[in-house]
Amino acid sequence: SDPRPVLQVQGLTVSYGKVEAVRGIDLELRAGEITTLVGANGAGKSSTLLALSGLVRKAGGRVLFDGQDLTHLAPHRIVASGVVQVAEGRAILSTLTVRENLELGAYTRRDRGERAADMARVHELFPVLAERADGLAGNLSGGEQQMLAIGRALMARPRLLLLDEPSMGLAPIIVQGIFRTLREINRAGLTIFLVEQNVRQALKIAQRAYVIETGRIVLQGSGRELLDNPRVRQAYLGG
Ligand code: ATP
Repeated sequence: SDPRPVLQVQGLTVSYGKVEAVRGIDLELRAGEITTLVGANGAGKSSTLLALSGLVRKAGGRVLFDGQDLTHLAPHRIVASGVVQVAEGRAILSTLTVRENLELGAYTRRDRGERAADMARVHELFPVLAERADGLAGNLSGGEQQMLAIGRALMARPRLLLLDEPSMGLAPIIVQGIFRTLREINRAGLTIFLVEQNVRQALKIAQRAYVIETGRIVLQGSGRELLDNPRVRQAYLGG
């Protein structure tokens, strides 16, 4: 039987003045799955994610998470509901240590024991963050900063993790490592929504996928189906 839908997006619209970036899209994320939204530069992926996080206004539509209506909630309330976005562009705090950056991710949580357990789990996923715990975050490489951004989001104990192009600007070998870790986190039970321009890698790890073009969903299916889809191959995978 199919896992239950945990996030439902109905008719989501995002506008910047006269520019309609997202034009009434429907999405369904199932519990315990990786769902990806792929598309070209400017297709409306970031706007979709920002709207889910409450960081841009929704011009229309509804967002339901596990029975709760998130449509009109402020960003911090959305985080408190368990929907946590990995900071954009690896927006880590470069003058703080790696450990301090991770602790910031857990700032809303009081239980020290739980926070320590989560820190240990993040260190297990990303050993380099343990090795560099007392070093300044600004001295990490691009790939390590992306790991730190993901680690920081995990410290908030998400029930749904949102990521905006974690592969951006990273070497292929580093991207593979990041994607492998996302799959590992997912296998441990976390639901993931991944927005990507790296269509091939995203479709490979996603159970469910949507293709967005100029603000509209044009294709959907399993990751496997879309990898094999002639139109996807032609437009996004180099034929
Ligand atoms: P990218 O990979 O470049 O982030 P994207 O698929 O995430 O692309 P969006 O960033 O959501 O796409 O942009 C969708 C459309 O909205 C584009 O036409 C873009 O120029 C426009 N847009 C995005 N942000 C703004 C803004 N703050 N003001 C005006 N237009 C915007």
